[in-house]
Amino acid sequence: MTDKYCVIGHPVAHSKSPEIHAAYAAQTGQDIRYERCLAPLDGFAETVQRLVAEGYRGANVTVPFKLEAARLATRLNERARAAGAVNTLVFAHGEIVGDNTDGPGLMADITRNAGVPIRGRRVLLLGAGGAARGALLPFVQEAPREIVIANRTVPTAEALVHDFAQVAGRHGVRLGAAGFDTVDGSFDIVVNATSSSLAGDLPPVPPGIFGPGALALDMMYGNQPTVFMDFAARHGAAVRDGLGMLVEQAAEAFAIWRGVRPDTAQVLRAMRP
Ligand code: NDP
Repeated sequence: MTDKYCVIGHPVAHSKSPEIHAAYAAQTGQDIRYERCLAPLDGFAETVQRLVAEGYRGANVTVPFKLEAARLATRLNERARAAGAVNTLVFAHGEIVGDNTDGPGLMADITRNAGVPIRGRRVLLLGAGGAARGALLPFVQEAPREIVIANRTVPTAEALVHDFAQVAGRHGVRLGAAGFDTVDGSFDIVVNATSSSLAGDLPPVPPGIFGPGALALDMMYGNQPTVFMDFAARHGAAVRDGLGMLVEQAAEAFAIWRGVRPDTAQVLRAMRP
């Protein structure tokens, strides 16, 4: 019997997840169906209950329901708990298990697709919203030398440093908070996890943040490079958008559901404009 999955969002028509999962299923010979599921803004829980009742095996969750999914899950794994947000649900044995594959997807894109090691490096994370929070535990587990979180609203970055101080200490990672204009020194990896690119804005960071051979990654993706990517490229960094992260988080979810890991390189090549 064909197993059913979907991506729940509002809006959801733009989601590329059905194409990505269809490609993974074809590649691995898995018999699944994956569709878009538009949930009413006040009807996420009802939508999940309906999917469970209809025999769906799991779902991805996108904007604006990731926090609500974390509250709804009957069980969260460690990375979902640390992120405070869920992008992957597994419906099994009467439970709704919440996971978060966004951060692991980002790590896979940096280390495997871009070929940039994180261990021992200096990382600058721009932004302190949901995407930044979700990236922090996976980043810390890669044991960089230091992570600086810079945000427009500095107390939000400081709160993240507070929340992750213990786990960072256990991995020997220095954690710091800053405002965009007070970021100090240069970095090996700079990730833009703000939503500023959506509005065509650039976080006002000093151009000296890009060290020699630095990687700059904007979590946003589209047909054009973002202003942040243009800025980073002008200052000597290698640049990536968020498409690789998207394809990798989907692979991680697929592996959780199906127990097989698809080849992401093929799918990423096919999706590039
Ligand atoms: P949130 O709304 O939770 O956080 C937004 C963050 O951006 C905050 O730190 C906010 O700062 C900052 N910000 C917003 N506008 C500006 C601006 N004009 N200038 C500077 N900083 C700004 O969003 P998310 O964390 O959920 O998402 C962030 C980005 O990551 C989005 O573009 C999203 O599409 C992308 N994303 C990509 C994924 C992928 O698979 N590629 C997965 C998940 C997210 P403040 O605290 O001061 O308000």
